[in-house]
Amino acid sequence: MKNEKERLIRELVEMGYIKSEAVRKAMEKVPREEFLPPDQRRYAYLDQPLPIGEGQTVSAPHMVAMICEVLDLKKGMKVLEIGAGCGYNAAVVAEIVGKEGHVYSIERIKSLYNMAKNNLKRLGYDDRVTVIFGDGTLGYPDAAPYDRIYVTASAPQIPPPLKKQLKVGGKLLIPVGSSRFYQNLILVEKIKENKYETHNLGGVAFVPLIGKYGWKE
Ligand code: SAM
Repeated sequence: MKNEKERLIRELVEMGYIKSEAVRKAMEKVPREEFLPPDQRRYAYLDQPLPIGEGQTVSAPHMVAMICEVLDLKKGMKVLEIGAGCGYNAAVVAEIVGKEGHVYSIERIKSLYNMAKNNLKRLGYDDRVTVIFGDGTLGYPDAAPYDRIYVTASAPQIPPPLKKQLKVGGKLLIPVGSSRFYQNLILVEKIKENKYETHNLGGVAFVPLIGKYGWKE
């Protein structure tokens, strides 16, 4: 498993998905296999999404690397993740923002909320990651504003509460598209209160974001 992990990380560096030392170190440190259901563990270091139950997936490692690089995460940042899944992506982000920072992660499916919470606790991330059960399209106003917000499921539009809960100077990353199966990854930068710049980073395929400002169930 150690060799497979080293090989995957080397390939992600060579392909340009991992650019920074911070992301490389975080992905080296976090054991992806520990977040997966037992029957998926042997595939942990293949660069592909894997089933985690309830018809959901953990994102492929190159996507996790890309999310972390695009967000330009720094130590001490407060980050909001929508779609906790198994907790793996949140753990990688938590490694980068360090003990000075914090990750809040929202999950709408109860069994996955429990899975993420248990995984993160067992692996010692519960002091840096708070998992919340609910509809992430509403954000999490209790801990707002955030330096960074990222959504790991695809939306028909950018949920207005997420833009509102972003700090001025903050970044929001979200797959948006009119199809439930193919979207564009959109980076939103909050220039000042009520002023945003958006950049289209290209095509991606995520599971749908279901909720008040997402797709209907
Ligand atoms: N980041 C996750 C990981 O590391 O395993 C991968 C998440 S998976 C690609 C997307 C997740 O978003 C699913 O677990 C799904 O249940 C969740 N989701 C979809 N709509 C949501 C919503 N409105 N609020 C919170 N979670 C949502």
